[in-house]
Amino acid sequence: MRCFDRTQIPLAARAFNEAEMLVCRYFRLTGDELRKNRYEVKTLAFLEQHEVKDGAFAHLCKYTYEKRSVDASDGCEGFDFYRVCLQDNVILDAVDRAGSFVKLAPLMLYVAAHELIHVLRFGSGLSDFNAPAEEKELEEKLVHSLTRSALKLVRHTDLDIVSECFSGEFSLGDICN
Ligand SMILES: [Zn+2]
Repeated sequence: MRCFDRTQIPLAARAFNEAEMLVCRYFRLTGDELRKNRYEVKTLAFLEQHEVKDGAFAHLCKYTYEKRSVDASDGCEGFDFYRVCLQDNVILDAVDRAGSFVKLAPLMLYVAAHELIHVLRFGSGLSDFNAPAEEKELEEKLVHSLTRSALKLVRHTDLDIVSECFSGEFSLGDICN
């Protein structure tokens, strides 16, 4: 499968940095407040088999870590952790298919902002990761419209095309433990 190359990986990283700033501005959060929702981003080459999924630009996995303390009487403290699993091949195929209309940079910015908003909403309890399919569909629509509004903070004509073209192609990931 096609993976991001040496120029595309830093481009994806920059998209996430820019998306973090935008999401913070839009929701009036500090960077620390956003990062309290633990998450990381991985490209296709670094994904586990079960994190690879065709058809979506990105796949969000939620993991719960249980850390047992040395003294068993303290019990254990666990935390949730999100991994944004980028499906490089699906993203690159979409850019190819769209010819000159859709460029990788604005598409990546859209994907990044969209996934960060999911993480933020799941992490803060505004949305339930384990919700039934119907509820997830509504959540998907809401996240799409929040993403579009957040991206309005940057003027970028290519972005409008991206949000028009690809609105329907995102899907929430399954739960992976
Ligand atoms: Zn989504």
